[in-house]
Amino acid sequence: MDDCIFCMIANKEIDSNIVYEDDKIMVFHDAGPCAPVHVLMIPKKHIASTDDLTEEDQELMGYMMCKIKDIAKTMELDNGYRVVINCGEDGQQTVKHLHIHIIGKRKLTWPPG
Ligand code: 5GP
Ligand code: ZN
Repeated sequence: MDDCIFCMIANKEIDSNIVYEDDKIMVFHDAGPCAPVHVLMIPKKHIASTDDLTEEDQELMGYMMCKIKDIAKTMELDNGYRVVINCGEDGQQTVKHLHIHIIGKRKLTWPPG
């Protein structure tokens, strides 16, 4: 999608600090981290949000879920971490390209505000 910042990151039209990449996904450091480790996992395919997922995305989403533990290992999140997907206005989603926040290396509070 032309005006999508995460599509631009996936296409390397704008720079990001990449942690992991393959043909389906990219993981990069969040530009405004809320913890010592805060990375974002995105599908290279443009999907706006969890609300826009279809049956054909099942395999891709399963793939992303199963990759989280590998990224956690790479980032040395041995003591746990949080996985967050914001959706829509009440979920405070600011970038309309589905992304999974992986956050850790500090004790996180719960529930979120
Ligand atoms: P959301 O609020 O949509 O769940 O999260 C969007 C996240 O993307 C935010 O944590 C924000 O800091 C991050 N972000 C926004 N623009 C960029 C960017 O251009 N590069 C990177 N690396 N992160 C970004
Ligand atoms: Zn996009």
